[in-house]
Amino acid sequence: MPVTVIRRAAWVVAWEGGRHVYRRDADIAFAGDRIVHLGGHWEGAAAREIDGSAAIVLPGLINIHCHPGQSPLFRGYVEEFGNPRLFNSGRHRFRQAFIPDAEAIRASARYTYAELLAGGVTTAVDLSHAYPGWIEQLAESGLRGVVAPMFRSANWYTETGQETQYEWVPDLGASALAEAAEVMDQAEAHESGRLSAMVSPAQVDTCTPDLLRQGAALARAKGRPLHTHAAQSIAEFAGMTRKHDCTPIEYLDRLGFLGPTTILGHAVFTDAHPWILWPRREDLRLLAETGTAVAHCPTVFLRDGSMMHDLGAYMERGIAIAMGTDTHPQNLWEEMRVAELQARAAAGPMHRCDTARVFHAATVAAADVLGRDDIGRLAVGAKADIVIATLDHPAMQPARDPLRNLIHVAGERPVRDVFVDGVQRVADGVVLTIDRAQASADVAREQARLAALVPGRDPQGATVEDLMPLSLAVVG
Ligand SMILES: [Zn+2]
Repeated sequence: MPVTVIRRAAWVVAWEGGRHVYRRDADIAFAGDRIVHLGGHWEGAAAREIDGSAAIVLPGLINIHCHPGQSPLFRGYVEEFGNPRLFNSGRHRFRQAFIPDAEAIRASARYTYAELLAGGVTTAVDLSHAYPGWIEQLAESGLRGVVAPMFRSANWYTETGQETQYEWVPDLGASALAEAAEVMDQAEAHESGRLSAMVSPAQVDTCTPDLLRQGAALARAKGRPLHTHAAQSIAEFAGMTRKHDCTPIEYLDRLGFLGPTTILGHAVFTDAHPWILWPRREDLRLLAETGTAVAHCPTVFLRDGSMMHDLGAYMERGIAIAMGTDTHPQNLWEEMRVAELQARAAAGPMHRCDTARVFHAATVAAADVLGRDDIGRLAVGAKADIVIATLDHPAMQPARDPLRNLIHVAGERPVRDVFVDGVQRVADGVVLTIDRAQASADVAREQARLAALVPGRDPQGATVEDLMPLSLAVVG
């Protein structure tokens, strides 16, 4: 099998002795989809040599939670417009009238897959409601994809703008679960071998207890990870405690939903949060004892003025934390920076979060959650999911500690080459599988098309400009 060797890499983030460590001046070689050498000089033959002397080589990042079918469509609209009468949630008139359809979702996802790859993400958990063409497009992107088709029993809406209301639709959950089950089977059977599945009842408050139990049973029967959105807003916490006299996390525990293959997006508003006044403090203990993981996506929460309190405390209790982006920007480097800084601000002098921990969360911790011991790390025998970032980029200098540079300064900009399963998907910063200019034009066209439909869907005929004004007035 032909071998590719990255020769004399200035820095390699290697996985040794159960932790990421730096290696200097090291060769890394891979053949087929596996790493065959990491360390000193590779003596064997090589079909291709890549000069690593001005590079840092890292494991491909794992994005444990994102919604590629949605986020760029909302760009320019939602950054500053959480509903102030509903805990700054996204439940407001704009979202009820600006509704992505399958064509828009496909364009959005294609754009996002390219954005993820260019930023050094090699594995992404794609949480979407099933739509035609999803599996094929994800496979064609070259990503290692975890298909997480969301299903639920009720749709959210608000009439007054002051409370979350639920439209419970008979049989909606059963039919959506059946459709999701079919999509997950298709993903696992896909010839690329890069797709897997995650069972994902959409939100703790939009699913009946039966649907949550059925989701958990399906995940366990098939050996798949299990996910739901829970403890993600004050409104949800208040609604769940009123209805069930327990927190969303206690509720999931009673249903048998928690466990070592369960992931909660985003477990922000637990009973340990200082903004939540609840007479018990059991949630973090339950997460730790059951081995339940948390998908941490701090940016989208900060945008609405809320935050986890605090990440370091979760980590200290042994709760598994994996990193995701949720919405835009789909940039896991920036998300790591925000996670670390926000954790410090939340915890003050008691902060317990650092660069090594957030990088672990975006790599090995996420792999563990997915039940994988062969991704998120560079080691002999692991998958050749590899990122090469150049030290020549000005943002990487001085390169005293290049991982800190990537997370705290440069972000994705120095990412040069990306390999998934040993196949190059990004070369010199160019995504090889997706025409990014075309994808950008497509998503812009789809956004404009959806915007034009808003007056016909808003009860009062409002335009997007009425509902979501630009940041500055246009005067000419
Ligand atoms: Zn989400």
